This record gives sequence, structure tokens and C-alpha cells, in this order.
Amino acid sequence: MNKSPLRQCISCRKQLSRNGFIRLTKVHDDSCRIIINPTKYFFGRSAYICSSTDCIKAALKQKKIEKMLRVSGKTAEGIIPKLENYLSNSCLGVPA
Ligand SMILES: [Zn+2]
Repeated sequence: MNKSPLRQCISCRKQLSRNGFIRLTKVHDDSCRIIINPTKYFFGRSAYICSSTDCIKAALKQKKIEKMLRVSGKTAEGIIPKLENYLSNSCLGVPA
């Protein structure tokens, strides 16, 4: 059996297989957008993080997203509403 390589959360450093994480990809174009769990391949930098807003907020506080993805603080903060939206539209969110 192939053991999939573990990824590490940039915030809490927990290690999981890639499916356990949200992938943040910075799209390499003029907009420098960050896409959450892109379904197609984009050329750009990626970081893995737990699917929890707490982890994202902690990462923002420590400027880890900015460093990992090389974006401005404003761009990094912009992913919080996107992430909350993503979580509320998927089964990954808090149980009802
Ligand atoms: Zn984490």
C-alpha cells in the first residue's frame, strides 16, 4: 500500500494526509488571489491548513499565511470570510 506523504498544518503543525487539510493556493496572476481547495491545478504556491477558522486565525496572527504564500496581510485576511463560507457550505464545518 502506498502511504501518502503527510502534510503539515502551517498553523498548529499537526500532520495529516493531504485530504485532512484545506489547501490554500495563491494563484500566480495579477490579482494574487488565494483559492481555497482549488479543484483544478493552478500554478502558484500552496499551503495546507486545518479546516478550522481557529487555525486560520492563529496562522494570520503569526503572519504564517503571509510568509508561506508571500502575500500581503490584507490578502491573507481576505481568506477568512472565504473560508467561513467554504466551511458552511461543506460537511467540514461544525456539526449542526
Ligand atoms: Zn492546524
